[in-house]
Amino acid sequence: MELLRPSSAEEASAALGNGSLALAGGTELVPLLRDGLVHAERLVHLADAVPRGVYGTKVGAGTTLAELEAAADVPAALREACRLAASPQLRSMGSIGGNLLQATRCWYWRLDFPCRLHGGDRCHAAAGVHREHAVFANDFCASAHPSDPAAALVALGATLRTSSRELPVADLYRLPTAEDRHTTTLEDGELIVELDVPTADASTYLKAMDRQRWSFPLVGVAAARVGGETRLALSGVAPIPWSIGSEADLDSATPLPGTAYKLDIARALVRRALAAIGA
Ligand SMILES: Cc1cc2nc3c(=O)[nH]c(=O)nc-3n(C[C@H](O)[C@H](O)[C@H](O)COP(=O)(O)OP(=O)(O)OC[C@H]3O[C@@H](n4cnc5c(N)ncnc54)[C@H](O)[C@@H]3O)c2cc1C
Ligand code: SF4
Repeated sequence: MELLRPSSAEEASAALGNGSLALAGGTELVPLLRDGLVHAERLVHLADAVPRGVYGTKVGAGTTLAELEAAADVPAALREACRLAASPQLRSMGSIGGNLLQATRCWYWRLDFPCRLHGGDRCHAAAGVHREHAVFANDFCASAHPSDPAAALVALGATLRTSSRELPVADLYRLPTAEDRHTTTLEDGELIVELDVPTADASTYLKAMDRQRWSFPLVGVAAARVGGETRLALSGVAPIPWSIGSEADLDSATPLPGTAYKLDIARALVRRALAAIGA
């Protein structure tokens, strides 16, 4: 396999496609390559192509979760979401850009079952073992979005600058359908370059997990208060980060038999998060 190291986002973007994939920290991509779930002839290392660091409200896509967790300028919800993600080793290597694009942790998908997200015609989790899966939008694919920072960024109203456009972080994601199985709107060759994370009057991220460290979110709740507005976004409850307007919106969930317990957790975390930000 060839490793390219372009020196600009334009060069990196031009090098992608035709068997070339972007590589940042590699904590997600390398295991997927090793397990044969993703195939590449060339890796395009982004170390010199996308910025790294926090500059006012701007965050380079190459900034690691460990750097964000320690950045005083970053809103509390994002700092906490990074602190509660993965392990110290993974946070030292894993970038925010790569985190937003991580694939599902659904074990059927990771074991290469021919499920809908792999192009097949059934969701093995819906009929099988699914205690970590979704309670919203789970009729086509019941996977639960694993990114803690993504929920925080959606609640904060953060935006992304890619190599070709600007968009709210919420619009990076889409629900998979029979016609298009992708869960992001990123085009081939499009790179995440930078994020803009607006300041909030108050924000927080709370997470329930199987262990107190190094576990994906069963449910994560990000809450942010900006001006008179309060925003809530959840991880671990839908195939993509999931926004709700209030606790009452949890009543419209469609849990699977094994995921109904997540709603009790979500209700408790939403109440605690709103109390924590004084909303
Ligand atoms: C054991 C384990 C536990 C974890 N626990 C958690 C957790 O609790 N919460 C959580 O949120 N995350 C968790 N993670 C995910 C972890 O945070 C991500 O693996 C990491 O942030 C990915 O960043 P990376 O730089 O290593 O990405 P890479 O592995 O380099 O890339 C990941 C994907 O993003 C693409 N990519 C990377 N950067 C860009 C860019 N700038 N533009 C376009 N495409 C890009 C790559 O092509 C690839 O498809 C866990 C991971 C592991 C392995
Ligand atoms: S939840 Fe999604 S990824 Fe998992 S088996 Fe069902 S279709 Fe596949």
